[in-house]
Amino acid sequence: MVSLAAWRRKALARRTEARLAEVVYNQSTGQGKRGEALVEAGVITQLVRGTGVKGAAAVAKQMQRAAKAALGTVSVADWVWAWVRTEQKKNRLTCAIQRAAPGGAGIPSWRGENSELDEWTAYVTLVRRAVERRLTGNRRLARGKVEEVRQATKGAQLVKRYGTDLLRVALWQLTYEAAVTIDQIETSATVGGQWQDPAWWGGLADAASELAGPVGKVASVVLAWVAARTGSQGSTYVVHWCSGIGAGARRAVREAGMRTIEVDCNRRLLHRSAADSAKVAVVDLAKVAGGWWREAIAVATATKVQDQVAHIGGPPCATFAHSDASNRRGEHSHYNKRDHQAVVKGVRTRPPAHPIGSKHGDEAREADYLAWTMVTMMMSWGRPWMLENPVGYLQFRPYMTVAKIVRTRRRIDYCAYWSDEEANEAAIHKPTYIWTGLRNWKMKGRTGNGRCGWDQGPDCGWEHISLEKVKNPRLRNRHPQSLIAEFLQAAADSGAFANA
Ligand SMILES: [Zn+2]
Repeated sequence: MVSLAAWRRKALARRTEARLAEVVYNQSTGQGKRGEALVEAGVITQLVRGTGVKGAAAVAKQMQRAAKAALGTVSVADWVWAWVRTEQKKNRLTCAIQRAAPGGAGIPSWRGENSELDEWTAYVTLVRRAVERRLTGNRRLARGKVEEVRQATKGAQLVKRYGTDLLRVALWQLTYEAAVTIDQIETSATVGGQWQDPAWWGGLADAASELAGPVGKVASVVLAWVAARTGSQGSTYVVHWCSGIGAGARRAVREAGMRTIEVDCNRRLLHRSAADSAKVAVVDLAKVAGGWWREAIAVATATKVQDQVAHIGGPPCATFAHSDASNRRGEHSHYNKRDHQAVVKGVRTRPPAHPIGSKHGDEAREADYLAWTMVTMMMSWGRPWMLENPVGYLQFRPYMTVAKIVRTRRRIDYCAYWSDEEANEAAIHKPTYIWTGLRNWKMKGRTGNGRCGWDQGPDCGWEHISLEKVKNPRLRNRHPQSLIAEFLQAAADSGAFANA
C-alpha cells in the first residue's frame, strides 16, 4: 500500500526531474560519440544555485520543494549530481566535471537508488546530512539534537538490521572526519559511557563482518583518545598550535623548565629536530572536533593530556593579512580570498569571498574554523593560553567580536620584543594582537608597554625591515623569545603551574 501523501511526493519529484532534464538538455552544446548530449559543468552548478540559464531559478525552487517533501535530508545539489550520474550511466549525457566533494556520492535518490557506495558509507553520509542541518556555527551539535538526528536516520536499512548503536559510531566518525563536536558524547568520556569499553566495540564489530572495518577504525581512535586522558608521565608541555614559533621561543619554554609540542597538519612546517626537547604532532586539526584536539595530539606524541600545561595558538594568517586586499604582487597578496566590502552593522566582517569547494574559499573558511575553534577551546581548557595574529582582519570576524573574547585582546609590536640576536636577523615591526586568558599579564617588552613608539612612548630602537623583504618563512613566522618568556612568567605568577 502506498499512501496518498507518498504518491504525491513521488509525483512531485518525478515532475521536477522532468523539468530539470528539460532545462539541462536545452543547454547541451552538442553530441558525443555515442549520441549523448554534451553539457557544461557550469550549467549544472548554476542550476543548483538557481542562477544563469533561463528557467533555472524556477527549477531550483521546485527542486527545493520536492527535495524537502520527498527526500528528507538530501540536498538539491546532491539530487542534481545524482541525477547527472544516472544520466551518464545511461549514456544520455556527458558532463565535463563531476563533483567530487564528500557527501556527493551514495546519496539515495527519491527512487531509492543507491548503488555506488557501500552501506556503511551511505549510512554515515545520511547521518552527516542530518547532523549538518542542525549544527551551530562552530560545528557543534547540541546534545538535545542527537534525538532529532536519530529520528531522521532510523529508517536506514543498516539500523533496521543491527540496531541504533550504529548511530553513535557514525557520530564518532564525524568527530574526526568532519570535525563535528557533539556535546556530552565527547565530554562525558571521562565519567562513563560504553564507548570506553573495548568489549562494547568488539560486540558491535562482531554483529556483522561488514561492520568490522568501520567499527574497528572508530574504536581504535576513540579508545586512544580516552587512554590519553589517564595518568601522567610527569613532563610538562607548552603546546604551540599551528605556528612556526622559532628557536628563540622554544628556548624560552626550555628555560622555564618545560618542553614544547608543535602542532601542524604539514610536517614541512614543523621544527625538524627534537634535539632541543621539542615534540612534533602532525595532525590535521580541521578534521578533528575541537573537543578532542588535546587528545589527538597527546596520541600523536605519546604524551598525556594532563601534561599540556599552557597553549599558544597561531591560526594561519594568510587570509587575515592586510595583503589579502592589496593589489600588490607578492606572497598571499592579490587574491581577495575574503570579501572586503561586506558590511554588517557598520563593520567590514571580511567573510570568505569564494564558494565552498573553491581553493581560496576553502582556505579562508578553514582559517576561520581553526581560529574560532582555537580560541573557544583554549578558553574552556582552564590552562594559561595566548593566541597571536598579525594586526589584520581576524579581529573583525564575528566570532572574535563577542565581548568575552574582545576583553582578552592586547595590542603589541613584535619589534618591541626582539632580542639583539633576533633583531640582527630581521627586525620586523609586525604589529600584532594577542588574545590571552592571563588577566595579570602586563605587556612590557623592551619598551615597557610592548608597543613601539605608541602614544609618544619609547620606540624599539631597531631599524625596521619590511615583512616583504624577509623571504625566510622561519624569520617571518617566529615569535620573539622574550614574548614567550613574558607569557610563561605571567602564567607562573598567576599560580597556574603550582600543581603542574
Ligand atoms: Zn619598532
